Amino acid sequence: MSETPVMMAIHGGAGALTGRDYSRETAHLRSLIEAGRARLLAGASALVTVVETVAALEASGLYVAGRGASPNTAGVYELDAAVMDGRTRRAGAVAALRGFASPIHAALAVMEKTPHVILAGEGAAAFAADQGLERIDDPAAWFTHVGWGGAKRAALETGTVGCVARDALGDLAAATSTGGVFCKLAGRVGDSPVPGAGVWADERVAVSCTGAGEMFLRAAVAVQVSHRMAFAGESAADAARAALADALSLGGDGGLIAASAEGEIAMLFTSQGMKRAALFADGTIMAEVFADE
Ligand code: ASP
Repeated sequence: MSETPVMMAIHGGAGALTGRDYSRETAHLRSLIEAGRARLLAGASALVTVVETVAALEASGLYVAGRGASPNTAGVYELDAAVMDGRTRRAGAVAALRGFASPIHAALAVMEKTPHVILAGEGAAAFAADQGLERIDDPAAWFTHVGWGGAKRAALETGTVGCVARDALGDLAAATSTGGVFCKLAGRVGDSPVPGAGVWADERVAVSCTGAGEMFLRAAVAVQVSHRMAFAGESAADAARAALADALSLGGDGGLIAASAEGEIAMLFTSQGMKRAALFADGTIMAEVFADE
């Protein structure tokens, strides 16, 4: 059986602003693509690759996810994450999770160890504790952002992270993790942990979104990409463009990454920039933030 060329894409959020220096993030994203390529070429599944890549993004503290998340207006860190396996269409997610270092590992455990798709709040935390996942004992010492910073910061930094991949068997997977939007209310859950909204993977396409989560929820962006491909015969890029436009006609800005079974990678955004990197099916690698680098 001939192997399918592996490919993957990563985003570090659509909140990048023109004029800022993102060289550290770009170098980090490129290094994760190189690590992901090695993993995929060694036979790792798309599922393992997206989870471990997102776990590394969370641990870096460079993005508004995992260690880099900001607290809500009550001063509490509540994190969302989800993973979806295109081969089986199984999914797992945590929403408004408090007190654990890697929300994406908690999401994977929900998928693998429970009959459910999403666990939220105290239930999610109790489950993560039962699974022996790494706890955060001292949030002030752990998180790189202390204090929610108000509306000014909201305009400056959004940095949800996500990864999509196709492995050597041709299977797809997607994962998304976030600290949510700045100035969010306690208990607010965005699109990121909701399959169909901020994350999706099936036999056709894997999608991870970033941006104004309420609009992505209202437009079911991630699954809309797949449905446009299936029912309207659109390419992944055309479907992604149309789904993004649909969401953002409701307000806000954002972007998404998608990888298709046919070998397409789409990375689109309506914001000034989106931290992103990719390994294409022909083996080339790119890492960029703005449109014309
Ligand atoms: N989509 C995320 C949310 O609404 C935020 C982001 O991507 O920056 O929680």
